[in-house]
Amino acid sequence: MTGKVHKHFILIMSIVPPLGLAAGMVLLWNDLAGWVDLALLAVFYLLTGLGVAVGYHRLFAHRSFKTKKPIRLGLAVLGTMAAQGPLIVWTSHHRNHHSTADQEGDPHSPHLQAEEGLRGLWKGFWHAHMGWLFNQELESKPMRFTPDLVREKEMRWISQHFLSIVAAGIVLPGLIGFAITGEPLALLTGMLWGGLARIFLVSHATYAINSLGHMFGPKRFESKDESRNLGWMWLPSLGESYHNNHHAFPTSARFGHGRTEIDPSAAFIGMLERLGLAWDVVRPSPDRMAKRALGAQGAQQLEAEPVAGDDGRPGPTTPDPANPERELVAARDDG
Ligand SMILES: [Zn+2]
Ligand SMILES: [Zn+2]
Repeated sequence: MTGKVHKHFILIMSIVPPLGLAAGMVLLWNDLAGWVDLALLAVFYLLTGLGVAVGYHRLFAHRSFKTKKPIRLGLAVLGTMAAQGPLIVWTSHHRNHHSTADQEGDPHSPHLQAEEGLRGLWKGFWHAHMGWLFNQELESKPMRFTPDLVREKEMRWISQHFLSIVAAGIVLPGLIGFAITGEPLALLTGMLWGGLARIFLVSHATYAINSLGHMFGPKRFESKDESRNLGWMWLPSLGESYHNNHHAFPTSARFGHGRTEIDPSAAFIGMLERLGLAWDVVRPSPDRMAKRALGAQGAQQLEAEPVAGDDGRPGPTTPDPANPERELVAARDDG
């Protein structure tokens, strides 16, 4: 996908899904859409949201766990259906974001605007939220950031068939709605709710982590960037919103630590692990977390929150060529 095609795709995808949501709401208001459509929205939101959070982000960009091939392929396809960009392009930009977080070279930092005051704040927000996606000159540099994925034949194929997979993700909920109700109109309303409205909602939940997650909210751990925890967004982001925790421990499979930070994506990875379908799950030890915790509150919280499955030993230093982050020390869960 060239820069120009990518830009046009993003343009279409920023206009059509909200129109789909509006059309779906009008139909719902007039009783022409119903519970099947809302169920399709919920199910496809969860599936493609996990595709991005567990697949694109934790598995492919950060390699925070290993899993069986069919699950790897499934997560790659579901993440692609979220329509946020081809797998290899998305992960390249994301690894670049971690390697330069909030400094020159970061593709979507809200803090690199020349302007001051409210105008600068708004411009920074817009750039980090969506504006950066329209930058035709921005290169994802896959050979530099994701040589591991470029080498994988299946991942190349999934990246190359991005548009077809996105289209399939819009048509599929329509077909399921039609199969359940037998109504021809359900084909349309299923595509609007489970397809377009869902793409709009999942995308903005992800984009908000890039924008708001580098602007507002508390920092729980020391990090060299402006990342913040947006606890209130745990549900729509499926646990991705503990963004300061994530920047402090980028290779960790869990972003929410302890009982108060609910992380559905980490719960999903934990479930795979218990079923023997995920292994080498990376989690920071309580010791490492305590060292990086900010303030007395952070330290106290950590004392009360042992991490399940963590052996407590400091992890080995593992320089990882595929994760060009500043934080290269990964505590591996050996247990
Ligand atoms: Zn970030
Ligand atoms: Zn990340």
